Amino acid sequence: MVSRVIPVEEFDLVIFGGTGDLARRKILPGLFRRFLSGQMPSGSRIIGAARSDLDTDGYRQMIRAAIAEFGGVEKSDTKIEEFLAQLHYIPVDAKGEAGWKELHDLIRFEVVNAFYFSVAPSLFGDLAERLHTFNIADNDSRVVVEKPFGRDLATAQELNDTLAEHFNETQIYRIDHYLGKETVQNLMAVRFGNMLFEPLWNNHYVDHIQITVAETVGVGGRGAYYDKSGAMRDMVQNHLMQLLCLIAMEAPSQFDADAVRDEKLKVIRALQGVEPHHIVRGQYDAKGDKASYRQDAEDPKSFTESFIALRCEIANWRWAGVPFYMRTGKKLKARSSEITVVFKDLGHSIFPGDEKRHRNILSIQLQPNEGIQLQVTIKEPGPGGMRLIDVPLDMTFADALGLDADDSPDAYERLIMDVMRGNQTLFMRGDEVEAAWAWTDPIIEGWKARSDVPKLYDQGSSGPEDAMALMHREDRRWRDIKE
Ligand code: NAD
Repeated sequence: MVSRVIPVEEFDLVIFGGTGDLARRKILPGLFRRFLSGQMPSGSRIIGAARSDLDTDGYRQMIRAAIAEFGGVEKSDTKIEEFLAQLHYIPVDAKGEAGWKELHDLIRFEVVNAFYFSVAPSLFGDLAERLHTFNIADNDSRVVVEKPFGRDLATAQELNDTLAEHFNETQIYRIDHYLGKETVQNLMAVRFGNMLFEPLWNNHYVDHIQITVAETVGVGGRGAYYDKSGAMRDMVQNHLMQLLCLIAMEAPSQFDADAVRDEKLKVIRALQGVEPHHIVRGQYDAKGDKASYRQDAEDPKSFTESFIALRCEIANWRWAGVPFYMRTGKKLKARSSEITVVFKDLGHSIFPGDEKRHRNILSIQLQPNEGIQLQVTIKEPGPGGMRLIDVPLDMTFADALGLDADDSPDAYERLIMDVMRGNQTLFMRGDEVEAAWAWTDPIIEGWKARSDVPKLYDQGSSGPEDAMALMHREDRRWRDIKE
């Protein structure tokens, strides 16, 4: 099955930071794939704007090389040439005057125009201000901003205020690329498009929920930068929080941006504070010639976590008393992101001798293979009486739908096309981000006040022992981390 391409209108997209790592690795290769699928209307233009002193030819060469390295598509020279012809470049100084007049002359107001801020957040204010001073953006323009959106509530509010000086909330697209993943959207389809799950989706039937985002990479290369944030700020406050919202929210009255985001916000506001004994932080240890977290972070005394596990609760009618366990970390045993809903035990078994605990488990994998599995209990085939076993009903999307991996747009591609269509459903609203920080800040302040020292864990493991104990002492188990 080939994915359907929804047309977008002709656009001008300016990428501030168009020569940067994110633009070369994700944004431009993604746009090229959308171009190949026919979703980028002819006449549309992508304008790189950054500090490097390049001309348009030099920029096209840079992006040709980036697509060859990161494009993930078969090389197709004629198509690449057509795509590159739609690229332009203007050297721009976010903090000065250079380039802004030229940008103004290039931009067309009669087509959709969007400005992607793929630069350090400290430049957002300068960019927003100059877009207005030089009359480059109007009330229909869109701005796309990258994470990190603040490092606490105060800085997030400051960023929101800065953007609000020049743009309405309906013009601002805060990217969390997790929300662009196929399975994340499928989570909403599964929940709100089936009769089967929703009646069971509450504290009467659900024992607990687990969210795991495990990475195999460390922080080597960007350790000093990562050390200023850590797993809580870098992953939990945004990506894991978004997943938690989608799994826990009430059904919006309709699938539109504000209805969905209103429901997500209610979940974040209902999140309880986290008790210190429900938080486990860790740092990966050295292994052979592989550096430890502290060596990678270039700080032998760093207290920043490369792993975190925590248990939280949502105080509302649906979820009161149901634990939500979240964990994420670097240098773990496999790269895997998974949300798991573990249903309660049957109250009573009618099968003599069947002492095993049978539970239905719905597990939603986001990466590396997107898909959904439902564990059900059946009779073990063959003679020997009623012996029960648990088996997974497996629906890996690529197999079930015959999707070619190349047909399914990457999260960035999908989100950029949503910007062009003016659809904000999969972007975080300002109040959502602030509410997430309002929950996160006291947790971080708490461990700072306690001078909490992260526990060491082995590279290639599932994290510190204490993270296992967090569940074991409540007679529960983390799912195995596997690809
Ligand atoms: P980078 O350092 O590789 O690139 C920065 C870009 O900003 C360059 O194009 C540079 O020319 C431009 N720039 C810097 N100062 C400028 C100025 N004064 N005027 C005009 N342009 C200027 O950074 P990156 O890794 O591409 O990250 C960009 C943003 O995206 C950051 O906010 C980062 O946190 C975020 N982000 C990056 C990644 C990633 O994988 N790289 C992932 C998520 C979020």
